[in-house]
Amino acid sequence: MAPANASPTPTRPLGTFPLRGVVPYITAWSSEETLRTTLTAHRNRLGYEGEHPLDRDKFGILWRRIGISPGVGTPEYGAVHSLRQRRTMLRTLCQVCGGPADQTRDGVLWLMGRAEYERAPWPAPIESPHPPVCLNCAVQAIRLCPHLRDHYIAVRVRRFHLSGVYGALYVPTLPEPRATTVETLALSDRRTAWLQASQFIMRLVDYRVVDLDAEAAAQGKER
Ligand SMILES: [Zn+2]
Repeated sequence: MAPANASPTPTRPLGTFPLRGVVPYITAWSSEETLRTTLTAHRNRLGYEGEHPLDRDKFGILWRRIGISPGVGTPEYGAVHSLRQRRTMLRTLCQVCGGPADQTRDGVLWLMGRAEYERAPWPAPIESPHPPVCLNCAVQAIRLCPHLRDHYIAVRVRRFHLSGVYGALYVPTLPEPRATTVETLALSDRRTAWLQASQFIMRLVDYRVVDLDAEAAAQGKER
Protein backbone atom coordinates (compact mmCIF):
# COMPACT_ATOMS: atom_id res chain seq x y z
CA MET A 1 0.00 0.00 0.00
CA ALA A 2 1.37 3.39 -0.91
CA PRO A 3 1.40 5.91 1.93
CA ALA A 4 -1.61 8.22 1.82
CA ASN A 5 -0.99 11.43 -0.05
CA ALA A 6 2.55 10.40 -0.96
CA SER A 7 3.68 12.09 -4.10
CA PRO A 8 5.44 9.75 -6.52
CA THR A 9 7.59 12.66 -7.63
CA PRO A 10 9.69 14.01 -4.80
CA THR A 11 10.21 17.64 -5.45
CA ARG A 12 13.32 19.73 -5.61
CA PRO A 13 14.96 20.60 -2.32
CA LEU A 14 13.35 23.57 -0.68
CA GLY A 15 16.50 25.51 -0.20
CA THR A 16 17.55 25.53 -3.80
CA PHE A 17 15.85 28.67 -4.94
CA PRO A 18 15.64 30.88 -1.87
CA LEU A 19 19.22 30.82 -0.75
CA ARG A 20 21.14 32.70 -3.36
CA GLY A 21 24.75 31.67 -3.32
CA VAL A 22 24.11 28.78 -0.92
CA VAL A 23 23.94 25.25 -2.23
CA PRO A 24 21.75 23.15 0.03
CA TYR A 25 23.32 20.09 1.60
CA ILE A 26 20.96 17.70 -0.17
CA THR A 27 21.45 19.20 -3.64
CA ALA A 28 23.28 16.90 -6.05
CA TRP A 29 26.41 18.14 -7.89
CA SER A 30 27.29 17.43 -11.51
CA SER A 31 30.27 15.32 -10.43
CA GLU A 32 28.03 13.00 -8.41
CA GLU A 33 27.04 10.53 -11.07
CA THR A 34 25.16 7.30 -10.71
CA LEU A 35 27.78 4.56 -10.42
CA ARG A 36 27.79 1.52 -12.66
CA THR A 37 26.55 -1.55 -10.88
CA THR A 38 25.68 -5.12 -11.64
CA LEU A 39 22.30 -5.97 -10.18
CA THR A 40 21.61 -9.35 -8.64
CA ALA A 41 18.57 -11.25 -7.40
CA HIS A 42 20.09 -13.27 -4.59
CA ARG A 43 17.94 -14.39 -1.67
CA ASN A 44 14.81 -13.16 -3.39
CA ARG A 45 15.70 -9.51 -3.25
CA LEU A 46 17.44 -6.90 -5.36
CA GLY A 47 21.15 -6.50 -4.69
CA TYR A 48 24.51 -5.46 -6.12
CA GLU A 49 27.47 -7.57 -6.89
CA GLY A 50 30.09 -6.57 -4.34
CA GLU A 51 27.75 -4.76 -1.96
CA HIS A 52 29.09 -2.49 0.76
CA PRO A 53 27.34 -1.29 3.91
CA LEU A 54 26.27 2.09 2.45
CA ASP A 55 24.24 0.28 -0.20
CA ARG A 56 21.46 -0.59 2.26
CA ASP A 57 19.64 1.42 4.90
CA LYS A 58 18.71 0.15 8.35
CA PHE A 59 15.57 -1.42 6.91
CA GLY A 60 17.65 -3.49 4.51
CA ILE A 61 16.43 -1.57 1.45
CA LEU A 62 18.89 -1.18 -1.42
CA TRP A 63 19.79 2.40 -2.43
CA ARG A 64 20.91 3.87 -5.71
CA ARG A 65 24.68 4.00 -5.90
CA ILE A 66 25.88 7.52 -6.49
CA GLY A 67 29.20 9.30 -6.20
CA ILE A 68 29.79 11.53 -3.18
CA SER A 69 31.69 14.69 -4.10
CA PRO A 70 29.74 17.77 -3.00
CA GLY A 71 31.33 21.03 -4.12
CA VAL A 72 32.89 19.48 -7.23
CA GLY A 73 31.42 20.59 -10.56
CA THR A 74 28.20 22.57 -10.58
CA PRO A 75 25.17 22.20 -8.33
CA GLU A 76 22.16 20.57 -9.97
CA TYR A 77 19.45 22.52 -8.25
CA GLY A 78 16.62 20.32 -9.42
CA ALA A 79 18.23 17.13 -8.18
CA VAL A 80 18.41 15.66 -4.70
CA HIS A 81 21.44 13.60 -3.69
CA SER A 82 19.85 10.39 -2.53
CA LEU A 83 22.39 9.47 0.16
CA ARG A 84 22.42 12.95 1.71
CA GLN A 85 18.60 13.00 1.65
CA ARG A 86 18.66 9.62 3.40
CA ARG A 87 21.14 10.89 6.00
CA THR A 88 19.14 14.03 6.80
CA MET A 89 15.93 12.03 7.14
CA LEU A 90 17.49 9.36 9.37
CA ARG A 91 19.31 11.84 11.61
CA THR A 92 16.85 14.76 11.60
CA LEU A 93 19.33 17.13 9.98
CA CYS A 94 18.73 20.44 8.18
CA GLN A 95 18.37 19.93 4.45
CA VAL A 96 20.15 23.23 3.73
CA CYS A 97 23.25 23.23 5.98
CA GLY A 98 23.39 19.59 7.10
CA GLY A 99 23.53 20.60 10.78
CA PRO A 100 20.94 19.53 13.36
CA ALA A 101 17.39 20.56 12.49
CA ASP A 102 15.79 23.05 14.85
CA GLN A 103 13.95 21.44 17.74
CA THR A 104 12.00 23.01 20.60
CA ARG A 105 9.42 21.54 22.92
CA ASP A 106 6.90 22.27 20.17
CA GLY A 107 8.74 19.94 17.83
CA VAL A 108 11.09 19.89 14.88
CA LEU A 109 10.92 22.63 12.24
CA TRP A 110 9.85 21.84 8.68
CA LEU A 111 9.26 24.18 5.76
CA MET A 112 6.93 23.02 3.06
CA GLY A 113 5.21 24.30 -0.01
CA ARG A 114 1.76 25.70 0.68
CA ALA A 115 0.34 23.47 -2.05
CA GLU A 116 1.93 20.42 -0.43
CA TYR A 117 0.40 21.40 2.89
CA GLU A 118 -3.02 22.06 1.45
CA ARG A 119 -3.20 18.60 -0.06
CA ALA A 120 -3.52 17.27 3.47
CA PRO A 121 -4.46 20.10 5.82
CA TRP A 122 -4.28 19.60 9.55
CA PRO A 123 -4.95 17.25 11.22
CA ALA A 124 -4.32 14.77 8.41
CA PRO A 125 -0.76 13.41 8.41
CA ILE A 126 1.54 14.85 5.75
CA GLU A 127 3.80 12.60 3.70
CA SER A 128 6.84 14.57 2.71
CA PRO A 129 10.12 13.89 0.87
CA HIS A 130 11.56 17.06 2.43
CA PRO A 131 13.97 16.80 5.34
CA PRO A 132 13.55 19.34 8.15
CA VAL A 133 15.44 22.63 8.49
CA CYS A 134 17.25 24.61 11.14
CA LEU A 135 15.86 27.97 12.17
CA ASN A 136 18.79 29.96 10.79
CA CYS A 137 18.42 28.49 7.31
CA ALA A 138 14.64 28.91 7.37
CA VAL A 139 14.82 32.54 8.46
CA GLN A 140 17.59 33.33 6.02
CA ALA A 141 15.53 31.86 3.19
CA ILE A 142 12.53 33.99 4.05
CA ARG A 143 14.64 37.14 4.45
CA LEU A 144 16.39 36.67 1.12
CA CYS A 145 13.20 35.94 -0.73
CA PRO A 146 10.19 37.54 0.94
CA HIS A 147 7.80 36.10 -1.66
CA LEU A 148 8.45 32.70 -0.08
CA ARG A 149 6.14 33.75 2.73
CA ASP A 150 3.26 33.37 0.29
CA HIS A 151 4.32 30.00 -1.04
CA TYR A 152 5.73 28.28 2.01
CA ILE A 153 4.58 27.51 5.50
CA ALA A 154 6.56 26.49 8.55
CA VAL A 155 5.36 23.73 10.84
CA ARG A 156 6.57 22.39 14.16
CA VAL A 157 6.28 18.63 14.26
CA ARG A 158 6.04 16.73 17.52
CA ARG A 159 5.58 13.27 16.10
CA PHE A 160 7.01 12.07 12.81
CA HIS A 161 8.43 8.87 11.43
CA LEU A 162 9.79 7.46 8.22
CA SER A 163 6.85 5.98 6.37
CA GLY A 164 7.89 5.28 2.82
CA VAL A 165 10.59 5.09 0.26
CA TYR A 166 10.70 6.28 -3.33
CA GLY A 167 12.65 4.63 -6.11
CA ALA A 168 12.75 2.32 -9.10
CA LEU A 169 10.89 -0.96 -8.71
CA TYR A 170 12.56 -3.99 -10.32
CA VAL A 171 11.40 -7.44 -11.31
CA PRO A 172 13.67 -10.50 -11.27
CA THR A 173 14.56 -11.24 -14.90
CA LEU A 174 17.59 -12.70 -16.67
CA PRO A 175 20.35 -11.82 -17.10
CA GLU A 176 19.73 -8.94 -14.67
CA PRO A 177 16.70 -7.64 -12.76
CA ARG A 178 14.82 -5.05 -14.82
CA ALA A 179 13.31 -1.73 -13.69
CA THR A 180 9.59 -1.51 -14.35
CA THR A 181 8.11 1.54 -12.65
CA VAL A 182 8.96 4.34 -10.28
CA GLU A 183 7.08 3.93 -7.01
CA THR A 184 6.62 5.30 -3.55
CA LEU A 185 6.17 2.29 -1.26
CA ALA A 186 5.29 2.09 2.40
CA LEU A 187 8.21 0.76 4.44
CA SER A 188 6.01 -2.18 5.40
CA ASP A 189 5.46 -3.10 1.73
CA ARG A 190 7.24 -6.36 0.90
CA ARG A 191 7.98 -5.05 -2.58
CA THR A 192 10.68 -2.83 -1.04
CA ALA A 193 12.86 -5.94 -1.44
CA TRP A 194 12.86 -5.10 -5.15
CA LEU A 195 13.20 -1.34 -4.89
CA GLN A 196 16.30 0.68 -5.73
CA ALA A 197 15.61 3.57 -3.40
CA SER A 198 16.47 7.20 -3.94
CA GLN A 199 14.47 9.13 -1.32
CA PHE A 200 12.81 8.54 2.02
CA ILE A 201 9.31 9.82 2.74
CA MET A 202 8.59 11.17 6.21
CA ARG A 203 5.13 11.14 7.78
CA LEU A 204 4.44 14.23 9.84
CA VAL A 205 1.80 13.07 12.31
CA ASP A 206 1.35 15.72 14.98
CA TYR A 207 2.19 19.24 13.90
CA ARG A 208 1.05 22.83 13.88
CA VAL A 209 1.66 25.77 11.62
CA VAL A 210 3.96 28.39 13.13
CA ASP A 211 5.03 31.91 12.24
CA LEU A 212 8.70 31.99 11.34
CA ASP A 213 9.24 35.60 12.36
CA ALA A 214 7.77 34.90 15.78
CA GLU A 215 9.89 31.76 16.07
CA ALA A 216 13.05 33.68 15.24
CA ALA A 217 12.20 36.43 17.71
CA ALA A 218 11.38 33.97 20.49
CA GLN A 219 14.56 31.99 20.01
CA GLY A 220 16.62 35.15 19.86
CA LYS A 221 15.38 35.99 23.34
CA GLU A 222 16.03 32.50 24.70
CA ARG A 223 19.60 32.32 23.46
ZN1 LIG B 1 20.41 24.76 8.39
